[in-house]
Parts: sequence; structure tokens; C-alpha cells
Amino acid sequence: MALTIQEIYQQLRLPSELVEGGDLDVHSPINGALMAKVACDTKESVGDKVAQSEEAFRAWRQVPAPRRGELVRLLGEVLREYKHPLGALVSAEAGKILEEGLGEVQEMIDICDFAVGLSRQLYGLTIASERPGHHMREYWHPLGPVGIISAFNFPVAVWSWNSALALVCGDSILWKPSEKTPVTALACQHLFMMAVERFGDDAPEGLSQIIIGAKDIGEVMVDDERVPLISATGSTRMGREVGPRVASRFGKTILELGGNNAIIISDKADQDMAITGIVFGAVGTCGQRCTSTRRLFVHEAIYDEFVARLKAAYGKITIGNPLEGHLVGPLIDADSFNNFEKALQKAAAEGGVITGGGRALVDQYPDAFYVNPALVEMPEQTSIVQNETFAPILYVMKYSNLEDAIAKQNAVKQGLSSAIFSTDVRETELFTSAVGSDCGIVNVNIGTSGAEIGGAFGGEKETGGGRESGSDAWKAYMRRATSTVNYSRELPLAQGIKFDL
Ligand code: NAD
Repeated sequence: MALTIQEIYQQLRLPSELVEGGDLDVHSPINGALMAKVACDTKESVGDKVAQSEEAFRAWRQVPAPRRGELVRLLGEVLREYKHPLGALVSAEAGKILEEGLGEVQEMIDICDFAVGLSRQLYGLTIASERPGHHMREYWHPLGPVGIISAFNFPVAVWSWNSALALVCGDSILWKPSEKTPVTALACQHLFMMAVERFGDDAPEGLSQIIIGAKDIGEVMVDDERVPLISATGSTRMGREVGPRVASRFGKTILELGGNNAIIISDKADQDMAITGIVFGAVGTCGQRCTSTRRLFVHEAIYDEFVARLKAAYGKITIGNPLEGHLVGPLIDADSFNNFEKALQKAAAEGGVITGGGRALVDQYPDAFYVNPALVEMPEQTSIVQNETFAPILYVMKYSNLEDAIAKQNAVKQGLSSAIFSTDVRETELFTSAVGSDCGIVNVNIGTSGAEIGGAFGGEKETGGGRESGSDAWKAYMRRATSTVNYSRELPLAQGIKFDL
């Protein structure tokens, strides 16, 4: 039996004033029902929160990094305890299936574990000096308040990728979640405060803060010079606005924007594996992942047989309430449904042959937007195929030569995720090489979605170029200082310059 929204709130011990009496109505995409009324920030309150965040930063940067890691360890502990209700809340507010909601919380736990280890490994280099009696060192210092902007489709994981790293790096955090998913953000902040309580006095007040509102409220934080780094996840349209605004004040950005991800299916692919990878990638989260599979290039030698198998697999997909064990939940809202419909009309006008599509379960959920995932066979990579439609549409095209398929996969403006299914090492190595995929994520024999936290996550071109999560992504949350120390009794100048007074 699925939890009700009230049961979810109770299990999370969420204070009722957080979800009642506010001016922002939050509707669940599952059935359109009102699930909360949340209080929005004003431009003035954002300014106050930034000031408090700056104050918190001044204290937090002095706490030793391994001790900062302890707070993140405790956050991971709290998340383990509340994994189920938080995962259910993600389902209720973002509409993704419970398995994916739980997976998102697991991702939060994983990045906390990663960040705890990192808190003892914020290593800088020691560098050989060209001068006698000198040494050079590189220091990584805390940066300042980090502004996080997140999208509706990963309402909790994106915050944790940023916040777990920023906190161990010695930064304070300000989070403006999507106005479509503010409740999960308030729940995360509430769980964070539980961790702070267990941690004790070293955590300054205002270390983590939530800013609720739409783009106009986000822009106040974006323009604030006291926030040296804005990490923004969302559409390319948003990145085009946010990037230049932050650059104009010489702030730094991490931009994680739209994707238009492709899989190449070689005639030497393991087809069973490929079908599962494609279907999860294309219809998971109802096609609303930045890494969703949107384009498929299938080798002509297997095209007819493979596409027939894919259609059969699509026939097995169950659509329905994501809390009740279906594979595909709803789209987030009516706008999203309209974009789905318009894209399919355009695809048909550009020569596409559509299987699926259309609204589903309309009698059962008149105020929600369930759809039948669509598979569209395209004669070529037309203009609609080159755009990201944030819905479950998979464009299928034929190829005869791998170099040509790679060129087509790269011939879009986005550069997030890509994959090849092939058992031929020459093909897979070509795909991952310098002349292969131009994306930030280049997979072999797995789909385009479902990244692990250990690697750096992000993409090229209009995807924004940012990297978050694992590998050395932490460096973006710190400032680098290069220090040359002279421990000799002479003052030799670099490059052998003579300057005798
Ligand atoms: P969106 O761009 O509409 O909104 C994202 C966030 O940006 C929201 O919090 C919104 O309020 C805020 N925002 C928008 N304009 C702003 C502005 N001018 N100043 C400050 N804040 C602003 O995106 P969405 O519909 O919530 O999410 C879907 C999009 O996000 C898709 O394009 C998807 O590919 C992308 N996405 C990318 C990644 C990634 O890691 N690359 C991850 C998740 C989603």
C-alpha cells in the first residue's frame, strides 16, 4: 500500500508550518492534488539569507576539514534513516517511480560517503622551485557561500552533489530549488538540521539555507557579489541567462544544462542488453532526465529485427501511479504534456513514423498528465531531433558506417551523455577516443542515464561545461592559492632577473 502524503510528512517529522499557509501551491503530478502551500522568499529575505550565509562561511572555513566531514557523515546517517519517506516524497512531488525516488536518496547517501573521505584528501601539490632555498606549494582554501539552483527532475540528488562537497570544502550553502519541487527541498533542509543537532556547536547558524521562489527570486542570488560560485542545473535557456549574469560580476559558475543523448547500436551489439538499456534510458522518469535517451542510431544490418524487438519491449511498459509499482509515472505538468504533443506533431511533419504517443489514464487522473512513451522512426536527424523535448520520445535512425553514426551523434548542440552497444573492441575504443563521442559522459554497453557519483558528472557545448559530484569536481568549490616561500638568506628573482639596488 502506497503511503499518503500526510503519512510521508509524518514519517519525515516535517513541521506542518513548512507545508501549510504559504503562497506557493504545490500540486502532485501523480493526481494533480494540492500537497502543500509553501512560503516564498522575497528579494529582501534573499539578501538577508546571503548575509547570514556569508557570516556562517567565516566561521565554517575555520573548522578543520575532517571535522566538517563529520557533519556530512551525520547527514548521510540521517538520510539512511529517512531514505524511504524521502524517496516517497520525491515520487509524490516529482512523479518519478518509487524505485527511482529511493535511488535518488541512495545517490545522496553515496555522495555523503564520498565527501567524508574527501574531507581528509583536499590535497594540493608541492612544486619544485627554480630558485635555491625556495619551495612552492598549492593550497586549496574554502571559497565562500555557494548558490545552488536545481531543476524539478532531480529534486534532491543535485543538491547533495553540490552541498556534500561544498560543506567539506568549507563553504556555506544557499539552495534555490525548482518552484515545482520546493517540498523535497524543505524536507532536505529539515533532515540537514537533524544532522546539525547531532553534530554540535561547530556548525554556525545559517550554514545551509533554502530560498523558495521562481526565476525572479533566483536572479537575486545570481546577481549577488557575495556568492562567488553559482552551481545551476536546469535548461539551456536558464543557463544562457544565468551564465552571463554571473560572469558579468566575475563570479564562477558550474552549469549543468540540457542534454540530447544518443545510443549507437552496432550490428555486433548484445541486443538483449541493449533493449533493457534503451528502454530504461528513454522512458525512465517519463523521459525527464537530463541523461534520458532521446536518439538511437541502429546499424542497417539489424535495423528491422531490432526495432521490432524494441517495439515489443515498449508494449510491456506499465504506466500509472509511480508509488504503486509501475515503470512509468506522469509528466510534471500540462506545459510538459503540450511540449510532448507539439514535438510529436513536428516529428510527423518532418517524416517521422510514430508508435505510441498520446495521453494515458485521463479518466483515472483528469488533473495529471500520463502519456504513452513514443518511439519515432525518422528518415534523418531533422530539426526536432536536434532539440531536447523533456518527455519520453525516442527518435530512431538507421546507419551504415560507424564514423558516420558518431558524426551524427555529435552533430547536435548538446553534449551530455552518449553510449554505444557493441562487442567489437575496435568500435568501442573508437567511440571513447578523441575522435569519438564529444560528450561529457561516454558509455560502453550501458545506457545513457544512471550515472554513479564517483565520476565527474556534466557535459560539453550547450550542456554548459560544468562538472559535479566525483573525481576532482571538488576543486570548483575551493579557491587555489599558489605560495612561494623563500627560506634562504638571498632574494634571487625568477627567470634569473637581476635587480641590484
Ligand atoms: P528550468 O531551467 O526551467 O529551471 C531550473 C531551475 O532554474 C529552477 O529552479 C528555476 O527556477 C531556475 N531558473 C530559471 N531561470 C532562472 C534565472 N534566470 N535565474 C535564476 N534561476 C533561474 O529547468 P527544469 O524544467 O526545472 O528542468 C529541466 C531541464 O533541466 C532540462 O533541460 C534538463 O536537461 C535539465 N537538467 C540538467 C541536468 C544536468 O545535470 N545537466 C540535470 C537535471 C536537469
